[in-house]
Amino acid sequence: MPRAPFTSEQATKTRRVLVIAPHSSYRTAAYIQAAQSLKSEVLIASEGEYSIVSDFARGLHIHFAEPDIAFQTIIEAAKDKPFSGVIGTDDSSLELAARVARYFNLPHNTPLSVRLAGRKDLARKCLQQARVAIPEFREMDLTKDVKVQVNGLEYPVVVKPVALSGSRGVIRANDYQELLAATTRIKKLLDKEQQLDIELQQKILVEQYIPGDEVAVEGMLRQGQLDILTIFDKPDPLEGPFFEESYYITPSRHSAKIQQQLRAVVQQACKAYSLKEGPVHAECRINNQGVWILEVAARTIGGLCARLLTFGTGHTLEQLVLAQAMGEPLITEEQRPASGVLMIPITQAGIFKRVEGLLEAQRVPGIIDIDIQIREGYELVPLPEGASYLGFIFASADTAEKVEAALRKAHACLKIVVAPMFKVNIA
Ligand code: ADP
Repeated sequence: MPRAPFTSEQATKTRRVLVIAPHSSYRTAAYIQAAQSLKSEVLIASEGEYSIVSDFARGLHIHFAEPDIAFQTIIEAAKDKPFSGVIGTDDSSLELAARVARYFNLPHNTPLSVRLAGRKDLARKCLQQARVAIPEFREMDLTKDVKVQVNGLEYPVVVKPVALSGSRGVIRANDYQELLAATTRIKKLLDKEQQLDIELQQKILVEQYIPGDEVAVEGMLRQGQLDILTIFDKPDPLEGPFFEESYYITPSRHSAKIQQQLRAVVQQACKAYSLKEGPVHAECRINNQGVWILEVAARTIGGLCARLLTFGTGHTLEQLVLAQAMGEPLITEEQRPASGVLMIPITQAGIFKRVEGLLEAQRVPGIIDIDIQIREGYELVPLPEGASYLGFIFASADTAEKVEAALRKAHACLKIVVAPMFKVNIA
């Protein structure tokens, strides 16, 4: 592998980080802020039509669909001023970020390890080989007859695309008829995902439905060792047929023993993928058979959920990630109080008009912010097709129970006003 003409020590002195992000990423702003607070410049490499130009953040236009050209564009950009660290914010930018960080000898995962973690089919096979606790699964080809591919399947199952995220296209099926309906629906969704390789548009996974409590585990890898940053409980049952994220509450109310098991299983999964550096976000289920891995991604948690977390001497998760990427890790012990977020579910399709009851919700003790992400006129698309959150409610209190109660109370105050949508067919 060719190496850059300068060393990571030289790079560290100059302190410019490269953040590779899809143009719609929820995480970009948080990384810009984090870099600013760490007195580091930022170059944002993105597909955005406009470039970001400010004292701290500059823009570099790349296309994710052309990774080799994007790689070269970035290498060229580093000639002006080298990078001290490289971050891929979202699944779609992780592999490119890994390539660039490896090229410059900066802390990195191998591109293969992030590709494994990011593709559900490859991930499942890798974890199965490493004997990590995962649901039984099989691959299905959407271009072939479903019936012959489901012989011997035990229900309920979960059907999912191999390369989407945010629960898009993830559907529970309790019998063959439901499975047929689910595959038809996923096929329709994948047909529209033109940016995916044809193989990824045609392949899906069918896996055993794992009942149990779900948690999200946020961790940080350093030279292959996993530190747990936080565990979020998800107190609402996620039983399908679709799996919309809702409440995330920390600290976890699971026992220390379960939390240790979670750490051990997520660590095992990281080892199987050969992930070694940087943030890890895992979704796990817990039942009387133990801890199961649903997914381990080589990035931070989605949405704006990280906003509530502070570590060490008040650092944010993004500061931690950037410092780690620059080879200057910060103290990661989580600061309390308890906190939580509700990703406000999109339950109804239509045109978003407004949210009523915001003031009342904001006045609920413990609520620290309500952030409605979309504007009037936006088309709301619920899961399994939809790809965005309506907004976030943030809370903090001295216990996890109070946080959860505050979020539920605030949510109950809100009324989401949606106008029906009429599609006109012009013959
Ligand atoms: P994505 O990467 O799109 O979020 P996941 O595979 O993580 O897709 O699935 C999203 C959600 O669907 C999970 O958080 C979980 O609630 C549910 N889910 C997925 N697979 C299973 C399974 N095998 N058993 C039970 N629930 C599942």
